[in-house]
Order: sequence, then structure tokens, then C-alpha cells
Amino acid sequence: MKVLQPRWRLLFVFLLIFVALLWPFHSLVQGYYLAELKRKNNQTLDLISANLVSTLQRYEVLPQVLGRLPDVQQALLNPEPEQLHTANELLSTIRDQTGADVIYLLNTEGMTLAASNWLGPRSFIGNNFAFRPYFYDALARGTGEFFGLGNISIKRGYYYGSAVYHDNRAIGVIVVKVDLDFTETLWGEVPERLLVTDQNGVVILTSEPQWRFKASRELSASEQQSIANHKPYTTIEPEPLNLKSEQWVALHNDLPAIDWRVSIFAPRMLINEPVSTAMAVFAVTVLAVLLIFGLLLQRRHYYLERIAMDAQAKQELEESVRNRTQDLQTLNSRLKEEVLEREATEQELVRTQDELVQAGKLSALGVMSASISHELNQPLAAIRSYTDNSKILLTKERYAEVASNLDLVAVLTERMASIIEHLRAFARRNPQASEHVALQPALEDALALVASRRNALQVEIFRDVPEATLWVEAGETRLRQVLSNLLANALDALAEKRSQRCIWLQTSLSQEWLCLTIKDSGTGFTDEALAQAREPFFTTKTSARGLGLGLAICDAIVKALGGRLEFANNLEGGACVRLYLKQIPSAMNLDAQEDRFA
Ligand code: ADP
Repeated sequence: MKVLQPRWRLLFVFLLIFVALLWPFHSLVQGYYLAELKRKNNQTLDLISANLVSTLQRYEVLPQVLGRLPDVQQALLNPEPEQLHTANELLSTIRDQTGADVIYLLNTEGMTLAASNWLGPRSFIGNNFAFRPYFYDALARGTGEFFGLGNISIKRGYYYGSAVYHDNRAIGVIVVKVDLDFTETLWGEVPERLLVTDQNGVVILTSEPQWRFKASRELSASEQQSIANHKPYTTIEPEPLNLKSEQWVALHNDLPAIDWRVSIFAPRMLINEPVSTAMAVFAVTVLAVLLIFGLLLQRRHYYLERIAMDAQAKQELEESVRNRTQDLQTLNSRLKEEVLEREATEQELVRTQDELVQAGKLSALGVMSASISHELNQPLAAIRSYTDNSKILLTKERYAEVASNLDLVAVLTERMASIIEHLRAFARRNPQASEHVALQPALEDALALVASRRNALQVEIFRDVPEATLWVEAGETRLRQVLSNLLANALDALAEKRSQRCIWLQTSLSQEWLCLTIKDSGTGFTDEALAQAREPFFTTKTSARGLGLGLAICDAIVKALGGRLEFANNLEGGACVRLYLKQIPSAMNLDAQEDRFA
């Protein structure tokens, strides 16, 4: 079973208390209203009893007084028509004055001689009432009383009989009948039932017509006999009243003088309604209180929950701050470690940089020496070939040619000095002012430099260069250096081929540029060479023949001259190198000086 939450449990307990309180409260309320009802009914009862008693007492002594009147006595002593008439008149008058129902005079036989209703259709005169107790009791004891239903008038009445004496002898009985039907009508319509029971316990007067002449208790045999004899009711066997005590609130008032009992029966329903209302008010009030209490409990629970949630949130926040602080501390210490590592790396880097600078210096030294030897090898080879040639010419005494050769050697040595100067300048990266240089003579010089090798390889040269001098922005020596390098590379590539060794030289002009294309039918650039040919020390050649500096130097020189070098392969095979230099319109070069070696 699900255990109830404490607040619901509390409410449940309150509900139980409420239910438990209902019963005593109900009794309390019922007691109160019952007491109220009884108080009120007691007043009614007293009033009715007093009224009834006073009504009867008013007539109690009347027959005794009337019995002493001479006209009454004369009517009994001398019952002549005249005397009787006088008596009738008298009784009728007295009846009108006293409000009695009927007053009548009986002789000792019980025969009615005179009556107040002597003129009415139901005149008692001539009727014998000897069987009535009020008659024979009055004769026997002086007075007699009787309740009963008039057998002529069929009206309930109380009869007071009194003996009429003459000379201490009873000569008759005078009777006064009090009308009780009228008394009953005075009670009116009230929710309470009023009733009067006689000495037999039979209801003789009541505000509830159905209860009339019913026995409120069991009748004894003598009582039944008496009823049969005197016929006071419409029946000689009264039915039981059978009132259920739980349905009624009964109050009684005994009238000992006449042995009657006056009762008032109030239906319990009368108090049920106010009791129910009071209970409803009580229930609603208690439920409202419970509801308010429940709401307060709920509100308190809600606030407690909120406080708990706030506390939990605060705890979680503190926890997360703690965690975050922990993380930050971890991060901080890691950063510190990283900073230390970085510092160590930086120190390492500085050290490595120092080492690299040192290595770079060494490398630059190597590059320089390699470049020098590379650039000088070709003129040296040319000088050797001129000197060898001159020796042969001397033996043949061809002195003019020897002199020409020596001139060429001189030019070459000058050029070597210039190359060394340029290499130094290159190494220092000293920019040199460009000048207007004629392309064709520089090209011729470069071809002359590689002529012996070209001849040895039987390389055919095709030129598509205009006769008119083409001027470019360059340096005389630097241009020749570039061209001879490019041609030397072409010859190296052609040396790999067994036949069809050709070099095509072609110029083209655009607005700004002069483009010299040097194509060969050699092996062509490898993919690697196309990508890296400009890098220093890149070479595909054996270490004996290639240093990988030629194109690096050419590229640097051409860039310094404001031009560019492009490397590609021909579709039909072989390399294609394009040298772009800024062209100078020929008109600007009329007084240009040629710095040619020849
Ligand atoms: P080296 O000639 O000492 O190798 P270079 O810088 O002059 O150095 O040339 C670099 C490389 O470019 C060469 O090793 C070669 O592979 C390639 N190369 C240059 N010119 C040509 C050419 N005309 N044909 C084929 N390959 C060439």
C-alpha cells in the first residue's frame, strides 16, 4: 500500500477528528433544539391545561347554584306545564348568560323535565339520562361529573350534575353540559398535536381528528366494562393509538382534579431541520477550516520545498564552482607546465636557430664556392681550348690567329673577373642598376662560350631572331651569364640524346616584354625539376656535372632585372625555357653603348 505523505496523513487525521466530532456535536445541537422545543411546548401545554381547567371550573359550581333557585325546585316539585315553562325559560336565559352548552333538569327517575334547548329540534326534554354517571352520582353523593358524547347532540361535552334538594331531600338533578368540541377548535392549526386523554387513557380532545377516541394505552377489563356501560365515545372498543415514540417528542401535564392528562406531541421532524442546518453550517465551517489549514500546509510545504530546492541549487552551484575552480586550477597548472615547456622549446629553438645560422653560413659559403667554380669553369675551359689551339698555331707559325686567340683569352679573363664580382654581388644581394642591353650580341657571346661543346655534340641551332637589334633592360654581363647558363643546360639535356640534337632560339615582343624562347630536343624537365628547378642545389645530374645552382642564379638575376623565367616542356618532347625581360623601344637606344666582347 502506498504510504501517505505526512501532510495528507495530517489532513486524514483531521478528517477523522472532524467525523468523530460530528456525533457529539449532533447530540449537542439536537439536545439544544429538543430543549428549546420542550420549553416552547411546555408553555403551550401549560396554557392549554390552564385554559381547559378554567373552562371546566367555570361551570363546576353552576348546577349547585342553579339547584337552589325556587323556579327549578318548583318545576321538580310541581311539574305542571306552567312551572316547566318557567323553568325552561330560566334555564335558557342562564345558558345564554353563562355560555354553557346545555342546562337541563332531571327528575329522580332521570327523565328530563326542562332544558335550555327546549325550543330546539334536539331538545332534551322527555329523554331519560338515568344511565349517566353524572345523574346517579349526583343523586347518591350530591354531585356527579362525566365526560361523554351527547347521545342526542353527538357533541363531546363535560357534564356537571348536582342534586336539587328540598327539605334535605333530593328531588331531582340539574345538569350543565360544557361544550368541548368548541374548546378543541380553539387550538387551531399547529404542527404539534395536542390531545387530552381521560381517566381511561382514551383521547377525547385532539388537534389530530384521526386520533380521536383512540386508546393511548391498553385498557383494563373494568375500564372496558365502564366504557361499554356509559358509552362516552363513538365506539365501545377504542383502537390503540400506537404512536412511535422515536417519531415524537411528547410532553404531558396531568390534571388530577378531573383525572385527565393533557399531552403535546411534536414531530421530531421539527427539530431535524434546524439540526440539519446547524450540522451543515458546522460541517461547512469545519471543512472550510480544514481546507484553509490544508492550503496553509500546502503553502508551507511549497515554501519548504522551495527552500530545499534553493539550498540544493546553492549546493549544486557551490559544487560546480568548486569543480570549476578545480578544473581551472588543473588548467592553470597545465598552462604553467605548457609555458615552461614553451620556454624550454623557445630556448631549444634559439639554440637550433643559432645552429642553423651557423649551418646557413657554412651552406652559403659552400654555395658561393660552388657558384664561383661553376661559373668560372666554362671560361676556363674556353681559355684552355684557346691556349691549346694557340700552341698548335704557333708550331704552324700562324701568329695572327694566335694573337686573335690571346685577345679572346684576355676578354675571357676579364669576363671571369666580372663573374666573380657578380657572384659576390649576388651573394651580398647588392642590387645593381639595370642598363639598356642589346639582346643579339649577348646571345652571340653566350653561344660562343658553349661553341666547342656544341660542336662536339653536333647540335644544330635554329634562330628566329630579327636582324634589328632588340634592346632589353638588363646588365651586360648578367644577361650573358643567364643566357650561357640556359644554353649549357640545353646542351646537357641534348647530351643525353643520341640523335636529333637541336636548339631553337626565338624572340617575340609584346607591349612591355621581350620574350626569348630557348627550346631543345633534349630529355625535357622531369616533373620534379619543373617544380623545383629554381631552388639552389636542385639537380638531376650526377654530382660531377651538376651543382643545381645554374637556374637558381639565373632566376635571382632575372628577378633582380625585373623579368621572369618560365620552365615548361614541348609537346613533341624537350625543354622550353622562356626568358622575359623588359623591352626598351629601339628609338631610345640610338646612343646606347655596346659593351660586347668580341
Ligand atoms: P645543374 O645544371 O647543375 O643541374 P641547374 O640549376 O642549371 O643545375 O639545373 C637544374 C635542373 O634543371 C637540372 O638538373 C635539370 O634536371 C633541369 N634542366 C635545366 N635545364 C634543362 C633542359 N634544358 N632540359 C632538361 N632539363 C633541364
